[in-house]
Amino acid sequence: MYFDPVETLPRAELEALQVKRLKHTISLALHAPYYSKTLSNAQITPNSIQSVEDIQRLPFTTKDDLRSQYPYGMLCKPLEEFVRLHASSGTTGNPTAVFYTQADLDEWASLMARSMYTCGIRKSDVLQNMAGYGLFTGGLGIHYGSERLGCLTVPAGAGNSKRQVKLIQDFNVTVAHIIPSYAMYFAEFLKQEGIDPAGLPLRIALIGAEPHTEEIRRRIEEMLHLKAYNSYGLSEMNGPGVAFECTEQNGMHVWEDAFLIEIIDPETGRHVPEGEVGEVVMTNLTREGMPLIRYRTRDLSRFIPGECGCGRTHRRIDRIQGRADDMLIIKGVNIYPMQIEQTLMALPEVGQNYLIELFREGVMDQIRVKVEIREEFFEEDMRKLQGLQKRIATRLRDEILVTPRVELVQSESIPKTEGKAKRVVDLRD
Ligand code: ADP
Ligand code: ZN
Repeated sequence: MYFDPVETLPRAELEALQVKRLKHTISLALHAPYYSKTLSNAQITPNSIQSVEDIQRLPFTTKDDLRSQYPYGMLCKPLEEFVRLHASSGTTGNPTAVFYTQADLDEWASLMARSMYTCGIRKSDVLQNMAGYGLFTGGLGIHYGSERLGCLTVPAGAGNSKRQVKLIQDFNVTVAHIIPSYAMYFAEFLKQEGIDPAGLPLRIALIGAEPHTEEIRRRIEEMLHLKAYNSYGLSEMNGPGVAFECTEQNGMHVWEDAFLIEIIDPETGRHVPEGEVGEVVMTNLTREGMPLIRYRTRDLSRFIPGECGCGRTHRRIDRIQGRADDMLIIKGVNIYPMQIEQTLMALPEVGQNYLIELFREGVMDQIRVKVEIREEFFEEDMRKLQGLQKRIATRLRDEILVTPRVELVQSESIPKTEGKAKRVVDLRD
């Protein structure tokens, strides 16, 4: 049933383990140039921690702190102890580097293997990693986890859909790791090539690395004829394998023996009431080379109250709604791209891709949404298309409270970049 007995540890024992590991993490962190300063300034020692609540006495670590310490200021051990580095993809600015000792890599692979087991993958599966290798953690992170679980692992990398299909067919691939925007594109590719996904051996897709809505998950499941599970992680906390969906598909279990998670109000820094949305803050509990304390991820989510039907005791978070810095302010209204995605993807006429453009008209900020329309609808007559355009604009206005310009475009006319999708283009300056 479970990969590791720790997954069902009673809460009290789990929290006791967290306290013990947090104390140890603080003693390690005091060896890093950065934390030796900040923790000493705050007069923190391992003894400052008596319960998990005491985490709130520790200072936050931000992405800017990491940048200011680039490259080595966060390391707790001599450089010769490290065997690998990754860098975040730099979606929101300069990259930051993350370093791993051999023990860190082993721990990460185990967490990843546990995550995969949680959504039903077994050693008899063949896993094709369709995410980019290189500095992005979704390559090697998934790869070593899959090997640790014992799966035959196909390091396909991203792109080249034709070859992906051939590998899937030739090696009887049952599991794909693929980022959601590529999965949508890949499904469209199969359709065009006349390949029936039901005839492929794939049964599970791990999708993550970028925000996506429940509508997108359902579409991926239908189009690729498999079960899709949400996978969450970030380079600063190893990479993938931080939180993962179980087969209940109702929120992602955060591996709390390895990460201490908090959800805070980004303004006040205080914990939000259970179940409310806020910024995810994470502390490493099992990393020795570069543990981070109270790292502000800027990702927005909430705890899902209650127990999970799978029996695991580790708390669940809801799918990530986006990053705090994704928020758009148009005509004084706060808008998240995922609200737009959710509205669009609920409409059957809408195809696989969309793009949000911000522009200025006179002194007013405006928002334009380019929407790919499925081929069979695009061939409809003008009047019907205008009706659809109006309907999309109205639905969007109901959701975001601002009326956007809506432009219907042909499927696959919005350029697809390799790696994470860029959903918003700002044309205002
Ligand atoms: P970058 O911050 O440059 O994109 P990473 O590759 O480390 O660098 O990406 C981590 C980020 O990707 C997370 O902080 C989060 O914003 C996003 N992310 C990862 N997994 C998911 C997921 N399952 N759902 C939504 N967003 C995700
Ligand atoms: Zn569960």
